[in-house]
Amino acid sequence: MKIMSAAAAALVLAAGSAAAQGYPNKPITVVVPFAAGGPTDITARIVAEPMSKALGQNVLVENVAGAAGQTGSTRVAGAAPDGYTLIMGHMGTHAASVGLNPNLKYDPATSFQPIGLANASPIVVVARKDFPAKDLKEFIAYVQKNPDKVTQAHAGVGSVSSTTCILFNAQAKLGKVNAAAYRGTGPALNDLLGGQVDFMCDQLTNLAPQINAGGIKAYAVASAARSPAIPDVPTSTEAGLPGYRIESWNALFAPKGTPPEVVAKLVDALDKALNDETTKKRFAELGSLLPTAEERKPDGLLAVVKRDIDMLTPTLKASGVTIGN
Ligand code: ASP
Repeated sequence: MKIMSAAAAALVLAAGSAAAQGYPNKPITVVVPFAAGGPTDITARIVAEPMSKALGQNVLVENVAGAAGQTGSTRVAGAAPDGYTLIMGHMGTHAASVGLNPNLKYDPATSFQPIGLANASPIVVVARKDFPAKDLKEFIAYVQKNPDKVTQAHAGVGSVSSTTCILFNAQAKLGKVNAAAYRGTGPALNDLLGGQVDFMCDQLTNLAPQINAGGIKAYAVASAARSPAIPDVPTSTEAGLPGYRIESWNALFAPKGTPPEVVAKLVDALDKALNDETTKKRFAELGSLLPTAEERKPDGLLAVVKRDIDMLTPTLKASGVTIGN
């Protein structure tokens, strides 16, 4: 009996490792936990094509929006750990959610097998193009005086846009502002362009073309230096709010338990995708920053996740905002 069990176990192991060796032999799905057209979707689609080339199989993007990205993340945390279902997470789904959602159904640091960081993106404070403030100082003064007239767009509590505006609103002492939640900042940007909402804090990846075309106003980029993608936009320090410094990122994760051979192939494919000339060009146009060699690896990504959970959780808990308010 004992021998049979051992043999059966060996067979299962051998079958698992044979499957890993033949990986991938069918299309791979990357879940984007937000609506199409936003920065997470844009990033996933940019890297999916060169990853398909590197892996010899199609890498497909599937949008599973809801609950600030937590619906898609929960689904992938529970998916088969076979390398065929991945998630393009970000600083919201895989760090900020911890400080904002006491009922989070996954642990960003332990429920996934990290693959690697896909990019980093400065956060920019933007408003509809006819917002009655010419710079950040006027914007802050206007919102402080007219809180009821202003609506902030975001992608749900726990998203990057909500989190980075919680930090911005606190730094700028804006008090409580009205907010409209979307299934991603793609649709939120459409409403900002249409003037249905007033302002947003979001990844530059989503905003550079509309900032440069004058479709929206940009008041500040929350990084140490200006971005070459939007050279006319001042840093938060130049604009008078030096404490407001925050950058987001997107990253690829698999379910926990994914075989090491599969992880190695995905790490290599992501690295190749990031070294692809078209990827580099698109990222540069969108103000997206390429990750370091270390950040492209599972341990480097895990370190970023843990760093940002530690950095964000105390401030977000102190903000008093939780899922549902
Ligand atoms: N930028 C978004 C966020 O606020 C999500 C998206 O990629 O659409 O988290």
